[in-house]
Amino acid sequence: MNTTLTSTLQHWIDNANYVADDRTGKVYNPATGEVAREVALASKATTEAAIASAHAAFPGWRDTSLARRTAIMFRYRELLTERKGELAAIITAEHGKVLDDALGEVARGLEVVELACNAPYLLKGEYSENASTGVDVQSMRQPLGVSAIISPFNFPAMVPLWFFPVAIASGNTVVLKPSEKDPSAANWMAELFAEAGLPAGVLNVVHGDKESVDTLLNDERISSVSFVGSTPIAQYVYSTGTANGKRVQAFGGAKNHMLVLPDADLDLAADMAVNAGFGAAGERCMAISVVVALEGIADQLVAKIAERAKTLRVGDGTRGCDMGPLITGEHRDKVAGYIDAGIAAGATLALDGRTGTVDADGEGFFLHPTMFDNVTTDMSIYTDEIFGPVLSVVRVESFDEGVELINSSKYGNGTAIFTNDGGAARRFENRIQVGMVGVNVPIPVPVGYHSFGGWKASLFGDQHAYGPEGFKFFTRNKVVTKRWLDPSHGGINLGFPQND
Ligand code: NAD
Repeated sequence: MNTTLTSTLQHWIDNANYVADDRTGKVYNPATGEVAREVALASKATTEAAIASAHAAFPGWRDTSLARRTAIMFRYRELLTERKGELAAIITAEHGKVLDDALGEVARGLEVVELACNAPYLLKGEYSENASTGVDVQSMRQPLGVSAIISPFNFPAMVPLWFFPVAIASGNTVVLKPSEKDPSAANWMAELFAEAGLPAGVLNVVHGDKESVDTLLNDERISSVSFVGSTPIAQYVYSTGTANGKRVQAFGGAKNHMLVLPDADLDLAADMAVNAGFGAAGERCMAISVVVALEGIADQLVAKIAERAKTLRVGDGTRGCDMGPLITGEHRDKVAGYIDAGIAAGATLALDGRTGTVDADGEGFFLHPTMFDNVTTDMSIYTDEIFGPVLSVVRVESFDEGVELINSSKYGNGTAIFTNDGGAARRFENRIQVGMVGVNVPIPVPVGYHSFGGWKASLFGDQHAYGPEGFKFFTRNKVVTKRWLDPSHGGINLGFPQND
């Protein structure tokens, strides 16, 4: 393994570093604010070299037996488990999230590798003997070809792992384009897969920006695109990719609400609001960004959240802090701009995260936990995905008003209800227009053997990630209807075939 945090990170094509005369971008250590390294940004030609590698590897990989593919996947799972600490350290160094959180990210990605070890079971087809007299019908799922995976900065390991193990276990080859903001995890994971025995060309990594993404979306050798990122880019990727005849799943942004009913355990709800609102500095697509509180308990709940959030230690993720920095200085300033906007719009600033002590060296991209109370739906802090440690509290008079508020959001990624009333929880599950729902669980990311996906502007396309839907996305169905003549000739009949 030679993916160390080097001065210029290169692409990974054909199981080797690929050096081209490409542009470069800066990768920061967000905890210190320093430029840690450069990353190559692929030109069209470099992206095409990765596509060519995956395209050339596809026939051989498609025809590799399930037994061999699975053996490599098991080996990968073992290596990843043994060395997850190295990957977590890379994530913390480039993303900034605290080390425990980075380890959690790797663990959730490993679930999908474990799922992919089950590929032979999940890819089993169906067979109907004697569908018609002497005629058998067989359904089988076959890989698509070359899969493009384009991932965001906030989960540099887990989001790629949502897709490439399933794509590869299903017999596809892959071009992964990770976020250029924290790109090293992708190389590390691809290099480890080569160590596990993955043949050259099956998993390639190109680093880049729009130029590389556009090349992937327009190249006819790409069969499918799995995208995760902000909603405007997801919409663009979905419309361009599908217009070019590709199968596309494009996961977008989010604004996740947590409804707290008066009968809830308010200490539990406050703990969970803090964990889900400020973990990873709010840079999670399943973060809680809006607490919807029934009037009767709102004052008490806001006080409990504020009291807990004030105790959080903010600083360098390698130092045992609770919350790390934001990804870049530019993003930190944008989030701080929302705090100004919230104040100007008249929301009550219940916790001001613009100042506070930080346990880090240098000028990292830090903000402290921030909370606004009395937020209304016309304020930009409510309407926009902020993607930072800024929690809004919206007060409602009733359960129905809370449900209506959540259902009016343009996003539908995750939501949660906190209550001890099973009937109310059941009504919530039934009526809420959101893809992933938690009951007394604030971040309801499904386990690997279910599927992950939001509704509305949080997902364009109809197949969710990993789980059974992941395997469906990366394969297509073929049905064979067959008759072996035994031994007589059936005679000529020009009528439409009927089953008898
Ligand atoms: P982003 O949209 O800026 O970038 C995502 C990917 O798109 C990156 O690989 C980036 O290089 C590429 N990209 C950026 N601009 C592009 C352009 N103009 N044309 C083509 N490609 C472009 O997102 P981000 O800031 O890296 O990630 C945060 C966003 O991702 C948030 O909105 C978050 O909610 C979302 N997200 C969603 C989910 C989900 O499951 N729905 C999961 C994780 C993150």
